[in-house]
Amino acid sequence: MTLPTTHVSFPAGAVTGESTVLAVHPLDGGRYAVVTGATPFHPLDHTWPDQPADLGTLTVDGVELAVVDCLTGAVGPDGGQVLVGADIPVRRGDEEWSWLVLHVLAADPGDIVGRSAALAVDAGRRGALSASHSGCHLLALALNEALAPRWRKDPGRTDAFGHPDFDSLAMASSVMDTEASTDTYRLGKSLRKKGFTAEATEEFPALADALPELTEAVNRRLAGWVAADAAVRIDVPGPELTARREWNCELPEGAARIFCGGTHLHHLGELAELCTELRLSEDGSELVAVTRPKRA
Ligand SMILES: [Zn+2]
Repeated sequence: MTLPTTHVSFPAGAVTGESTVLAVHPLDGGRYAVVTGATPFHPLDHTWPDQPADLGTLTVDGVELAVVDCLTGAVGPDGGQVLVGADIPVRRGDEEWSWLVLHVLAADPGDIVGRSAALAVDAGRRGALSASHSGCHLLALALNEALAPRWRKDPGRTDAFGHPDFDSLAMASSVMDTEASTDTYRLGKSLRKKGFTAEATEEFPALADALPELTEAVNRRLAGWVAADAAVRIDVPGPELTARREWNCELPEGAARIFCGGTHLHHLGELAELCTELRLSEDGSELVAVTRPKRA
């Protein structure tokens, strides 16, 4: 089966669309995946599964079908089987492969290939996930700034504001849900070798003791950015699911950019508040930031 890489409209914020059904593919557990030429649905990414799938409906010939999950699928250069999620043996974007948004249905939709489908994403859930995802990127920038004095040397990677990029250098996992973004950072040997200092020095207390002060500094910065109602947009080099997209936010300090495959708010004034909570594991090896957006 040869299928073109799915075109996606979620980066611009779309939650509805209309497209032709190109294929229906049976999945494990009696479920079915519907492939369309284009879609507003954001699928779970198989390489970096940070933002959960969109849910919603797909309506064909007046029959509304519930989309119970949305996954990333891929077909190899030989046009064989549709592989799903973790079964895909290559990284996202491999140009030899076709990359598909799979709208997962709980039951066989019948013969709908070639029909037109009206696609509708659960907009409330999408809005909450977008708020969490925007919060995640802002936390990264605010945390990098607050931790900047703790670098003994230049780790060779800085963020958009020129601060050592603690967020990407220490990141173990990043997971969003409709309530919050949870970012887990590993404070191991390799981070130390790159120059990060968690211990007390003459200039600052140990990380564990500095946590309340750091949290306050991060939250002060986040509150300022929300109050500034900064504009957010996704730069899209092409319509394909696999295009290398970039999150842009016009913060008072300057334009911030982060590569990102997810969905976002349009401006930070959509939030009433953005607040993070920092926790250090008992042995000091892991820092967890839980960042909660409150929508206006
Ligand atoms: Zn992102």
